[in-house]
Amino acid sequence: MTQAVILAGGKGTRLVSRLNGKPKPLVDVAGVPLLKRQIEVLVRGGVDDIVLLVNHAADQIEAFIAREDFPCRIELIDDGSPRGTAGATLACLDRLRERFVVVYGDTLFDINLAHMLDAHAAAGGAATLLLHPNDHPADSDLVRLSSDGWIEGFHSYPRPPGAHLRNLVNAAFYVVERAALAPWVGRMEIGDFAKDLFPEMLDEGAKLRGYVSYEYIKDIGTPARLDKAERHLTSGVVERARRDHKQKAVFVDRDGTLNELHGHIARAADLTLFPFAGAALKRLNDGEYRVVLVTNQPVLARGECDENGLADIHAKLEAELGEDSAFFDGLYYCPHHPHRGYPGEVPELKRDCACRKPGTGMVEQAAADLNIDLSQSWMIGDSSADIAMAERAGLRSILVRTGEGGRDGKWPMAPDHVTDSIAEAVTIIVGPSV
Ligand SMILES: [Zn+2]
Repeated sequence: MTQAVILAGGKGTRLVSRLNGKPKPLVDVAGVPLLKRQIEVLVRGGVDDIVLLVNHAADQIEAFIAREDFPCRIELIDDGSPRGTAGATLACLDRLRERFVVVYGDTLFDINLAHMLDAHAAAGGAATLLLHPNDHPADSDLVRLSSDGWIEGFHSYPRPPGAHLRNLVNAAFYVVERAALAPWVGRMEIGDFAKDLFPEMLDEGAKLRGYVSYEYIKDIGTPARLDKAERHLTSGVVERARRDHKQKAVFVDRDGTLNELHGHIARAADLTLFPFAGAALKRLNDGEYRVVLVTNQPVLARGECDENGLADIHAKLEAELGEDSAFFDGLYYCPHHPHRGYPGEVPELKRDCACRKPGTGMVEQAAADLNIDLSQSWMIGDSSADIAMAERAGLRSILVRTGEGGRDGKWPMAPDHVTDSIAEAVTIIVGPSV
């Protein structure tokens, strides 16, 4: 028994040329009203009870629901005067169940909701927010996530220069515990989840979970966005990105492959991205490959850099890739190192492990997290450990001549291809750019 609330009160002013007098939730998206697409995905995910918060043209929405005969209970509530997404939800909280999903009426999505609900239940937070990287992080509101998946902060645009934040954006799709919202009834008459309620809950110590997903969810509130979403529906991009389907991935090494190799990089200032790296990864993103960073970072075991320092380095890396509209779907590192005897080392990280390349631990973890088909996937790297790992994991491999260029000689290796850089490697995978 799962309940969803759809915030369907929007007028759709920016979309008026495409509405033909209909309210925004009923906009035609490749031949099917958006609201119908939303309800179908929710029902497939186990939702059997939907509360529609309506306002503008509520009579048309009511008539539509009556005509369609959806296989779930649907209740319409007129949310009265506009009071924001959180304000509207809080105003009808007494009609909602213990746990419910919040959906915005102008988003097209196709996600495996059951998987997200399971993750929410397992984590036990007040709410779980669907987060994803986007292709313009510099002017987006970003969410800071801890290494174990809890939200640490909301950082809206504009931000102070030099603030390194990972490319994680609130996709406006939530699972919420009613008990966590109850204290806010009467306290927040008007307000938005993203800008007001969630940041204030976090300030007061609420545990908010981030659920990072590559699945398709986009706001279609302008004609240009609607056109793009229709192309993605027609070409199958939307369907193929649902995590029920096995995904193809490209695993990418960091130092020497994406950025210049200079010793062990222990500070963000030491990271120099190759000028061609962002454009190369963007072609993988566009080619529907999940792009996954896998990097050995023995600097942690050696004590040259801590988790915060590494997070800062990766945030800088993601910000610079974002300038080329490129992003990672997953980011994995091995903090271990097998040999003891360095000054300042961290003893508990000084051990043999399954994740240090050429071990396959990071790839196996990513395959489970992202539902990856390794037989359709690739590894791009500059060292013998990258190529040896690819062989052990069943990935096709491309050695690049940047960085180590395979000259480190640590592991026996037989790459499937050797190219000058990641730019040419990507061409082998997706073909020449058009
Ligand atoms: Zn490890």
